[in-house]
Amino acid sequence: MLVNAYGAHAGDQPLQPLQITRRAPGAHDVQIDIAFCGICHSDLHQVRAEWQGTQFPCVPGHEIVGRVAAVGVHVHGFRPGDLVGIGCIVDSCKHCADCEDGLENYCDGMIGTYNFPTPDAPGWTLGGYSQQIVVHERYVLRIRHPEEQLAAVAPLLCAGITTYSPLRHWNVGPGKKVGVVGIGGLGHMGIKLAHALGAHVVAFTTSDAKREAALQLGADEVVVSRNAEEMAAHAKSFDLILNTVAAPHNLDAFLVLLKRDGTMTLVGAPATAHDSPNVFNLIMKRRTLAGSMIGGIAETQEMLDFCAEHGIVADIELVRADQINDSYERMLKGDVKYRFVIDNATLAG
Ligand code: NAP
Ligand code: ZN
Repeated sequence: MLVNAYGAHAGDQPLQPLQITRRAPGAHDVQIDIAFCGICHSDLHQVRAEWQGTQFPCVPGHEIVGRVAAVGVHVHGFRPGDLVGIGCIVDSCKHCADCEDGLENYCDGMIGTYNFPTPDAPGWTLGGYSQQIVVHERYVLRIRHPEEQLAAVAPLLCAGITTYSPLRHWNVGPGKKVGVVGIGGLGHMGIKLAHALGAHVVAFTTSDAKREAALQLGADEVVVSRNAEEMAAHAKSFDLILNTVAAPHNLDAFLVLLKRDGTMTLVGAPATAHDSPNVFNLIMKRRTLAGSMIGGIAETQEMLDFCAEHGIVADIELVRADQINDSYERMLKGDVKYRFVIDNATLAG
């Protein structure tokens, strides 16, 4: 089946309308009419070939929400009309220790929603900047938010789970002091989620203009990270710092803010390396520098249900498909509050 999509033919070319093929749903597949798709900074890294191995044409998009259009004969969990989401994972080996633990995100055979090998044409997966997608039921998420919030739910499928998973893994809750570095798509969700989990939240931003907004998102305090005095006031005090920054920067400036046994986990994935941190900043207080990648399917469902229960959605700006390239430029300038979401109905044209 041919559907309309938006993608690029090369890393140095803008995204443009194109048509792609979706497979007919197999026995365990769910076919979804995509209503909205968030724009993640990873989409930009991948489609501009900043990371290794981008296959072209590349159709990004892994913050997908919509309605079930059809299901295969063995699908019992979903019915046509259901509100559902697809995040960053569309397949995995299903039998390794990671898959059995519900951590498909760490399966060596994980298939990402775009740019991963698939038997479907053209040989690699194509993402949510498209009218439809067909996915094995195991990777389909149920959305329990009211339908009018659907567009603002889309970013939960990547930005939400990528921040929720480490917050849960490192036991964030009442009595814990948590820093969130970078107030972009991921960071603004990190602030909302850490606040909802009951932590004391400090937002770190390079933009003085985001100070007030960060408090409204749920931060208890805001630090402009360029201000050494403001940074020093938080020395040796954090249990966890969640670092979402999409560019190389000085990690030591944040490591020294961790208390003994504190952890800074990196989720930002810049195309070029950070300078190595000073090992003494780790040794002296037994600090940990860690990483975390999205989250498993079960915990993604847990996060969606937690957000539905607490009335949490992303702060979004809805855009047409023909505004995607412009949205990328604005995202690079930090000119977004806090996630662009594509109205996929504008692909119909
Ligand atoms: P985004 O919306 O562009 O937000 C990134 C934020 O980082 C910016 O808003 C800005 O916040 C800050 N920042 C940007 N450049 C900076 C610089 N040079 N120095 C200091 N701060 C800077 O991006 P996103 O969609 O949240 O994604 C963030 C990163 O996470 C990307 O690299 C993306 O690929 C990665 N990611 C990783 C995973 C994973 O599984 N680990 C999942 C999704 C995305 P301020 O203006 O507040 O400073
Ligand atoms: Zn993403």
